[in-house]
Amino acid sequence: MTLDAARVRLVCLDLDGTLMHGVAGAPFEGAAAAVRAVKSSGRAVRFVTNATSRPHRALFETLRDAGLADAPDDVWNPVSTARSLLPARGHDRGLLLVDEASREDFAWFADDPAGPAVVVATEAHDRTIADLQPAFRRLLDGAVLYTLQRNRYYRKDGALWTDLGPLAAFLRYAADVDAVETLGKPSAALFDRIAAVAGVPRPSILMVGDDVEFDVRGSLALGMQAALVRTGKYRPGDETRRDPAPTAVLDSISSLPAALGLPESSP
Ligand SMILES: [Mg+2]
Repeated sequence: MTLDAARVRLVCLDLDGTLMHGVAGAPFEGAAAAVRAVKSSGRAVRFVTNATSRPHRALFETLRDAGLADAPDDVWNPVSTARSLLPARGHDRGLLLVDEASREDFAWFADDPAGPAVVVATEAHDRTIADLQPAFRRLLDGAVLYTLQRNRYYRKDGALWTDLGPLAAFLRYAADVDAVETLGKPSAALFDRIAAVAGVPRPSILMVGDDVEFDVRGSLALGMQAALVRTGKYRPGDETRRDPAPTAVLDSISSLPAALGLPESSP
């Protein structure tokens, strides 16, 4: 596949592994210049992460201080979808598995052991099976299962760690739940909201990320273009590990302007 640069009006950039290590660090070399070059071409840029370890406010502050984001609405995480979708369904109360650091993103969600929803919002590696028993029993009683995302793993401190996907799969299997709704990448609800707020159609979005499954394949399935970066959790062979192939493969985020046919931006 070849990147159709003329079709791209909005570029969505993953954070962890694409723009920086983790979601709290300094941007990779060349990242800020790449973002400036894309913006200078008249395209909008949004930062779209599945990270659950930091609240939206902190993500925005990090990106603002790095000169990348201009406004809180430039930054999207799975809570952005949850906050609009769950209350509309009457699912704004229930059992929430969340890290204390990100609790502030869920001020709208009421802790209620008998509520209609179970929401998985925590990275799984430090949870024990004992921690999951109340959620399992609540699902048996008919609660609806949501997960902020279902990524399989992420990279931290040089090692790969299991992410929310395995935790949600554990609950789904144990309680024999048919479906689990995903609220982050690559859910249509998230990208439809981003597209609507930006005023562009979904096919005009280019997603750029290091996760060949959730950044690339998921975005392609939504009719978007998707570029894979060879940084972060990328492993050699990822570009052919999943069908369909990425629209483009970039050595790093600093290759993005050239892939869009843009001149180099000053550093
Ligand atoms: Mg990533």
